[in-house]
Amino acid sequence: MHVIVIGGGISGLAAAHRLLEGGARVTVLESSPRLGGKLYAGRIADAAVDLGAESMLARRPEGLDLARAAGLGDALQPPATGTAAVWTRGEVRPMPTGHVMGVPADPAVLAGIVSPDGLARAAEDAELPRTEVGEDVAVGEYVAARLGREVVDRLVEPLLGGVYAGDAYRISMRASVPALFEAARRERSLLDAVRGVQQRAAAGRPEQGGPVFMGIEGGMGRLPGAVADTCRAAGADIRTGAPVSELRRTGSGWTAVAAGRRLEADAVVLAVPAPAAARLLAGLSPAAAAELERIEYASMALVTMAFRRRDLARVPEGRGFLVPATDGRAIKASTFSTNKWRWNAAQDPGLFVLRTSLGRYGEEEVLDRDDADLVELSLGDLRTAIGLTARPVASTVTRWNGGLPQYPVGHLDRVARVRRDLAALPGLAVCGAAYDGVGIPACIASARTAAESVLHSGSRARPAAAPDAARE
Ligand SMILES: Cc1cc2nc3c(=O)[nH]c(=O)nc-3n(C[C@H](O)[C@H](O)[C@H](O)COP(=O)(O)OP(=O)(O)OC[C@H]3O[C@@H](n4cnc5c(N)ncnc54)[C@H](O)[C@@H]3O)c2cc1C
Repeated sequence: MHVIVIGGGISGLAAAHRLLEGGARVTVLESSPRLGGKLYAGRIADAAVDLGAESMLARRPEGLDLARAAGLGDALQPPATGTAAVWTRGEVRPMPTGHVMGVPADPAVLAGIVSPDGLARAAEDAELPRTEVGEDVAVGEYVAARLGREVVDRLVEPLLGGVYAGDAYRISMRASVPALFEAARRERSLLDAVRGVQQRAAAGRPEQGGPVFMGIEGGMGRLPGAVADTCRAAGADIRTGAPVSELRRTGSGWTAVAAGRRLEADAVVLAVPAPAAARLLAGLSPAAAAELERIEYASMALVTMAFRRRDLARVPEGRGFLVPATDGRAIKASTFSTNKWRWNAAQDPGLFVLRTSLGRYGEEEVLDRDDADLVELSLGDLRTAIGLTARPVASTVTRWNGGLPQYPVGHLDRVARVRRDLAALPGLAVCGAAYDGVGIPACIASARTAAESVLHSGSRARPAAAPDAARE
């Protein structure tokens, strides 16, 4: 069985890896000259650095398993410091513990992050009548109804923003914090619901205390290359600079046209962002294409800067801070890469690397500014937040236009409709950040499911010559 995988981001490469395990012959077609998509290894001041995604959730297995399968098991590295912070109400304050995506079990843990009035409002949850969540609800809307807007604006929003670069008042609770959604359906009090989620999580996780996130020595950006090498060693043909412009059904199989060349296959895994998937599916499944076209994306920019330690009056502590959008700052987060990753610090003891992120869904005007402006805006905010006045010895701006798909209320139903429509096209499966989660492990999981579904369609297709199967 020959399978074409369209898209050489982590989803496409993970799909290729699973297809090869299943015995398929695989061709990966990636439009850009580089594999990896949002995983992007770069350099600054001669040091390796991630210019895209930099860590993955370690509380689910898919990312770690793929890294190990690609020979990077020994390179997995947890963050060196767990100390995160929020720049809120005029100060950089320690990130509270004991919350689920910013929603606490006990409002007292938010002291300082929200005002005394905000704390008092959150405590009203215990007395308020039930808030119906229905089939889905926006995280911000529900949490604000229970605990007040301050909790949303000062903690939930920046945390969710860190994942989706989105708007908490639009993001689906069912899609983004499913455990909380299920608990909120059962419990009247949200504080009780969070307590239940925490208890269940603790009970189901005997290894509690292990790292929540994991990085890779040398950068997360190494993962796509390592997976690609493993796939090539298993016989995969991986082509870059091969944008697929057309996808057609041919009898029992498929034809893809990439850079003017035609390729035939028994099956296709489409691992591209939703707008590209919509274009390729327009003639094959107009209904699925129309749904995919409606998936919106947020754009952002990362400003990575390297400082000489001797230029810093005080070396910043912790792994960085989040910034609530409500405060109207230019940056929405800063990560102190040298503090966060041992591998980063080990490269050059005289260097301090940090990055800021700018832009989020609905607030993308800042991205019209040129690179030099984004550096200056970042430095201005860093000066105010942590008193950093030094000039960087190097800076790099990485623009992620259409970087993160948005999961508004109803997203999961949309994805279900896409999959239902595509079921009419045997031997075709979709995967990637637009469907079942934007994080790396979720993308890998969706890739494995897509790969398994086309492998399965192959095993159904093979006995097609037999009279019984032919009648189906
Ligand atoms: C700035 C940023 C930081 C992030 N940080 C983290 C993080 O720390 N941890 C985490 O878990 N997640 C993070 N994410 C999210 C995560 O990195 C992405 O959701 C994930 O990498 C998406 O992988 P993908 O393969 O589905 O899509 P992509 O990475 O977008 O890959 C799709 C590929 O398809 C190619 N393509 C498009 N059209 C065609 C075509 N017609 N023909 C052929 N190829 C095509 C593209 O060039 C691209 O390479 C971050 C995202 C961004 C933008």
